[in-house]
This record gives sequence, C-alpha cells and structure tokens, in this order.
Amino acid sequence: MSQKRSGYLSWDEYFMAVALLSGLRSKDPSTQVGACVANPQNKIVGVGYNGFPWGCSDDELPWAREGNYLDTKYPYVCHAELNAVLNSITRDLRDCRLYVALFPCNECTKVIIQSGIREIIYMSDKYSATESVQASKLMLEKSNTHYRRFIPERDSILLDFNRQ
Ligand SMILES: [Zn+2]
Repeated sequence: MSQKRSGYLSWDEYFMAVALLSGLRSKDPSTQVGACVANPQNKIVGVGYNGFPWGCSDDELPWAREGNYLDTKYPYVCHAELNAVLNSITRDLRDCRLYVALFPCNECTKVIIQSGIREIIYMSDKYSATESVQASKLMLEKSNTHYRRFIPERDSILLDFNRQ
C-alpha cells in the first residue's frame, strides 16, 4: 500500500458524474439533464438540472412535449445549464468548464458564453441536426468557446448506499 490507489475517477469523469447525478433530481418525465461547472482549480462552483422556476410547482405546470405551446413544458422549463450558471457560488465564471450530458441549446449557449465559461464537455450531441444546436455551434465558434465530447475511462459508476 505504498502507492496511490489506481482506478480513481479522472476530473472529467468526476464532474460529468456530478452532472448526471444532478440530473436525477429532475421531475421531467422525458428528459433529465444535469450540469456541473468547474473552475480552473477543479473546484465545483455550480450545479443544476432542468426544472421549473422557483415557486412554480412541478405538479401544476405541464410536463407535456406536445400540444398548445402554453400546455407544454417549453415556455416554463429552465434548462440545467441555465440553473448551473445561476446557482453558481460566484458571478465570475471566467475560464470555467461546463459539464453536461446533452449538447446545449442556443438559449443556454448564450448564457454559457455570457457567463465567461470557456469550455463545454458534453456526452451526447443527438440533436446536432436541429437549428438550435447549429446556432449554438456558430456562437461557440465565433466566441472562441471550446467544446469537446466526453471520453470516459469506464462505462459506468455504481453508487451503493448500503456499502461502506
Ligand atoms: Zn438549453
């Protein structure tokens, strides 16, 4: 036992796992997204998940994806990235990294850029064909905000509340 333990989480795995864990808090029946902001010193400065604004009950506003606009979740829901930025412990997110499962939409991309975050690490880009994500990438490239796909060193992490 004279050497450090092997197999420990990389920083990328750690922050993405925090993002995924945060997503489990979401009440959205179809899409659970979490986000985690880490600063250049590898400290977590903000986390968030998709949900309705403060005071707006998860039981009263609709979670539907289809129907009249006002009867869907879209006008009301705050995305994980927005919440992670707004929940952050500091206004200054310059040079921070944002970890999120899903490539950010154009509205969140504006928030990310304006906050000073300089890199996005994402898992899935399944909506890459949408105009929203195309607009995101255009703004990210123009603002010199980097993005890269998350490459894990393992397939899964097990958290067991009954083991210790
Ligand atoms: Zn968004």
